[in-house]
Amino acid sequence: MNPYTIFADIVAGRAPSSKVYEDDDVVAFMDIRPMTPGHLLVVPKVAARSLAELDPVVGGKLFQVGQRLAAAMRASEVGCDGVNFFLADGVTAGQEVFHVHLHVIPRTPGDGFGLRGRPASPRREDLDYLAASIRGALGN
Ligand code: AMP
Repeated sequence: MNPYTIFADIVAGRAPSSKVYEDDDVVAFMDIRPMTPGHLLVVPKVAARSLAELDPVVGGKLFQVGQRLAAAMRASEVGCDGVNFFLADGVTAGQEVFHVHLHVIPRTPGDGFGLRGRPASPRREDLDYLAASIRGALGN
């Protein structure tokens, strides 16, 4: 499937971005519709539409760069005292741009960002059942 998105143009320098970081594998730039001020996206240079298509080594790099950016955010004028990582894989998960990317979202008290409440805790046997199912799907 064609992996083209606006992020391919940003990676290639054909579309504008407010860049914060770049190396051989990834680029990080400001989100144009930030959840909170300072919200960044870390994007692999080689496009992958989904986690399943992403080279796991590059996936690890996304997290490493995200860690560095989170530390830089805390030290910068963004002035946050917390950070969330977020990655949407698939339409149902909220993915809008089909070029894998890690959101790095600075947090301050009362900023309004957050996950919605969760249902009551399941029984241990239900946790164990799904754990076994996922273990089985892991294979080797
Ligand atoms: P997601 O829902 O995880 O696919 O998030 C896509 C994100 O990309 C959203 O937060 C958008 O605001 C952001 N976005 C879309 N186009 C651009 C762009 N040209 N430059 C920077 N961020 C963008």
